[in-house]
Amino acid sequence: MEEKFDVIIVGAGAAGLTAALYAARRQLSTVVFGKDLGGQTSTTMDIENYPGIDFSTGPALMNNFADQAKKFGAQIKLVGIADIKKRGEQDFWVKAEDGSEYGAKTIILAFGKHHRALDVSGEKEFRNKGVVYCATCDAPLFSDKTVAVVGGGSAAFDAVLLLTKIAKKIYLVHRRDTFRAEEILVKRAQANDKVELVLNATVQKIIGNSFVTGLVIQTPMGEQTLNVDGVFVEIGSVVGSEFIRELVQLNAAGEIVIDHVNQTTTPGVFAAGDATTVPFKQTVISAGEGAKAALAAYNYIQGLSADTQSADQGYIK
Ligand SMILES: Cc1cc2nc3c(=O)[nH]c(=O)nc-3n(C[C@H](O)[C@H](O)[C@H](O)COP(=O)(O)OP(=O)(O)OC[C@H]3O[C@@H](n4cnc5c(N)ncnc54)[C@H](O)[C@@H]3O)c2cc1C
Repeated sequence: MEEKFDVIIVGAGAAGLTAALYAARRQLSTVVFGKDLGGQTSTTMDIENYPGIDFSTGPALMNNFADQAKKFGAQIKLVGIADIKKRGEQDFWVKAEDGSEYGAKTIILAFGKHHRALDVSGEKEFRNKGVVYCATCDAPLFSDKTVAVVGGGSAAFDAVLLLTKIAKKIYLVHRRDTFRAEEILVKRAQANDKVELVLNATVQKIIGNSFVTGLVIQTPMGEQTLNVDGVFVEIGSVVGSEFIRELVQLNAAGEIVIDHVNQTTTPGVFAAGDATTVPFKQTVISAGEGAKAALAAYNYIQGLSADTQSADQGYIK
C-alpha cells in the first residue's frame, strides 16, 4: 500500500535536509529522497564559510545536517525521484526510481544542480578512473601528474590554479579563444609555467586502458592527442528538472521559479536552493531557503497563507 506523508522533499543536500529538520520539528510526517547524501556540499573537503563553524569537510557538515533532521523524526531514503503528479486538492503522487510510490500533502523540490558532462566517448568509461568533475575533491589524486582541465569559466580557472600546486603540468583546453572567467584568474594561470592554454580546441574523446592516458582534441591545426593522466571537466552545471517540467514553471536555465516564500507556480509545491531561481548558490543560502520552504509548507497544510508570520519560529512549545 502507498505510504503517505505530509511533506515529501526531493533532494538530500543543504536545502532538502534543512527543510526536513524544520518540517519534522513542526511535527509534519516528513521524508527526504536523495540520489546521494549531502549533494554538492559533500563533494568538497573544505568548507570555511558556514557561519558558526570555523572549518568542516563537506561530508561531515552534511552528516550533521542529516543526523539533526533524523533526530526530529524525518526519514531519509537514498533513492531518486522519477515522477511527481498532482491528484486532486492537497494530494500529490510521487514515484521513486526503484518503482515505489508515495502520497504527499506538499512537495518541497530541493534537487540542486549537477555538473554538465562533455558527452564524448570515454567519458563514462573513465569516470573516476581519471575523469573527474570536482577539482577541490580530486586534485590531490594527481600529485606530480599531467592533467587537462576542460572549460573557460571561473570554475575551470579555479581548478587550474589549484592544480598548479599539485600537478606537474596542466593543459587548459577551451573551445574558444576568449574566456568567461574573472580576469585575475586568467592572468594568474597565464603567468604560471606549469599551465599551457590550448584554445579553439574541442574535445573528441577520452582514451585510456584501465585509467585515462589521453585526451583527443580537434584544433584548427587538426586532431591532436594530449597525453594526460587526468581530465577535469569544468564546463558548468545543470539543473536536472526535466522530470518536473509539467508540474511547475521553470526559467530558461531549467531553474524552478519561486516567490519570496519559496512557492512555485503550483499550490502545495515549494522549492529551495540551487535548483531554484534564488541568486547566489551557496550552502548557507540553500539551508536558509530550505527552512523557509518548510515553514511555508507548514502554513499551507494549516490552510494559512504561505507567508503567515506565526510559523517563523522553528520551535515546538
Ligand atoms: C566543488 C564545490 C565546492 C563548493 N564549495 C562551497 C563552499 O565552500 N561554501 C558554500 O557555501 N558553497 C559551496 N559550494 C556550493 C554549494 O555546495 C551549493 O550551493 C549547495 O550544495 C546547494 O545545496 P542544495 O541542497 O540546494 O543542492 P545540492 O547540494 O545540489 O543537493 C541536491 C540533492 O538533490 C538530490 N537529487 C537530485 N536529483 C534528484 C532526484 N531526481 N531525486 C531525488 N534526489 C535528487 C541530489 O542527490 C542531492 O542530494 C560548492 C559547490 C561545489 C560543487
